[in-house]
Amino acid sequence: MRGAAGNGAIFMKSNTEDPVQELRELTAHLVDWLRFQRRLGWRGTPAESEPSAPSGPQESARVLTLKEIREELGDCRRCKLSRGRKHIVFGDGSARADLMFIGEGPGEEEDLQGLPFVGAAGQLLNNLLSKLGLRREEVYIANVVKCRPTGNRDPDADETGQCLPFLLKQIEAIKPQVIVTLGKVATQALLGTQAPLTRLRGQWQKYREMRVMPTFHPSYLLRFPKERHKTWEDMQQVMEYLAAHAED
Ligand code: URA
Repeated sequence: MRGAAGNGAIFMKSNTEDPVQELRELTAHLVDWLRFQRRLGWRGTPAESEPSAPSGPQESARVLTLKEIREELGDCRRCKLSRGRKHIVFGDGSARADLMFIGEGPGEEEDLQGLPFVGAAGQLLNNLLSKLGLRREEVYIANVVKCRPTGNRDPDADETGQCLPFLLKQIEAIKPQVIVTLGKVATQALLGTQAPLTRLRGQWQKYREMRVMPTFHPSYLLRFPKERHKTWEDMQQVMEYLAAHAED
């Protein structure tokens, strides 16, 4: 056993001149002394208050319904995007969807209509869904930010920071089996990573217990149609997974 526990060794003078080494020795003596006290029956100093279970919103809050989340969002003024918006684009589709798509933020048409993916990119997404044999009403579609970034720029970090918690609550409400993130912004925001989309695309990721498939944003595919086959392949993986877990 190291040291002579319980005999006041903690107060012994160290032989070393090296302060780091001295501190190590003192710590070792302290550990021995505490062990010795435990063997004598000491059960530790009572804490001033009992430790409580972590009470972050994720642990303690009940899962809200989509309606409740929408109500909590209200006439949101939490960030500067609210100043230029016409409509909040909350999300669209089935509250019981197995498959959820997450885009970046509303464009001009979405801002006008208050619905996600109803512009040109939305047309392409609709085509993809119908080729996969899916109806828009049976999936759920939402965005990282719910108000249009002017000029269709990427949302700023503060805007994402204010809006993302609502998206995460929507995900908890729906609990889809698979989330498809469309483009870099959605992928990085959901997964909390800076990794480039080129590295993540087509590779299964996880958000909580849900599978995440990052793929290209439809706007990108409008500009680079030759890349569409990659998103098609990504979606084949998604459809295979959903087919294999249809009863889950
Ligand atoms: N692009 C997005 O990311 N989301 C939309 O809703 C529309 C276009």
